[in-house]
Amino acid sequence: MISNMLESSLRKLRSDYVDGLFIHSMENMDALQNDAVFESFVRFKEEGKVRFTGFSTHNERKTLVECVDPRYEQVVDAVMLRYNHMEGEPIEPLIAAMRARGIGTIAMKTLAGGKHGRLERFVNDRMTYPQAAIGWVLANDDIDCAVLSMDSYSLVDTYVAASGRQPQRSDDSLLREYRDAVDHTYCRVTCTSCEISCPHNVAISDVMRHNMYLEDYRQRRKAMDSYASLSEQRKPFPCKGCRGYCTEACPYGLPVQDRLLRTHQLLTV
Ligand code: SF4
Ligand code: SF4
Repeated sequence: MISNMLESSLRKLRSDYVDGLFIHSMENMDALQNDAVFESFVRFKEEGKVRFTGFSTHNERKTLVECVDPRYEQVVDAVMLRYNHMEGEPIEPLIAAMRARGIGTIAMKTLAGGKHGRLERFVNDRMTYPQAAIGWVLANDDIDCAVLSMDSYSLVDTYVAASGRQPQRSDDSLLREYRDAVDHTYCRVTCTSCEISCPHNVAISDVMRHNMYLEDYRQRRKAMDSYASLSEQRKPFPCKGCRGYCTEACPYGLPVQDRLLRTHQLLTV
């Protein structure tokens, strides 16, 4: 099956090879413990159809630790992980350990929610918020590159203007301003503090991320597809009538229960 998917992608791309082949949203290492997947990854590289293999993750604290195990050496060349100025520092030692083992690092969620369309006021005479946020990410030498969402052509100008600059963290007044503005609304994507409080095992972090795709990125299609792929058992059906343990548990004061209910309503067909 993976072979068919790869061949189909190569046909669409009209290419003999791709640079990277990733399994997306790996919450643990199970997929790479599957012999068929493991052997396919190794074979694709031997055949020259893929240069690098790896995975993306929304569970950095687990997968970044486990992926450096020598048993994954043949299949984990690079990892796409969430990293930004609002919550990146605690996972920096894990990133450094991975980088020290020669694993490539691709940062995603780099704009910390990037309130697209509502960023106009986060600008000074030298740069815009996205430029400052990208600079913060790339100032870490353990990060090889950053991926950015683009929902308008105007962002091309913003991002191109950021390239070629010496990445730095020293000028963070814009980042501070942004942090102050979104502190009580931005769900830290690497955080799971509220999830352990839920007696019904609702996938709170996932639902909050789908909300981010919808309300911050304004990517309705992506949000709906991601939400549809979530197991029904982990959707926020039990939230109505619950006393809201998750809201009480959020250290940042987010209205978690309200957001879960709203997200479910907006993303359920
Ligand atoms: S509102 Fe209740 S059921 Fe819903 S996620 Fe929060 S704690 Fe769990
Ligand atoms: S809602 Fe609050 S506690 Fe839950 S994941 Fe987001 S930031 Fe963490």
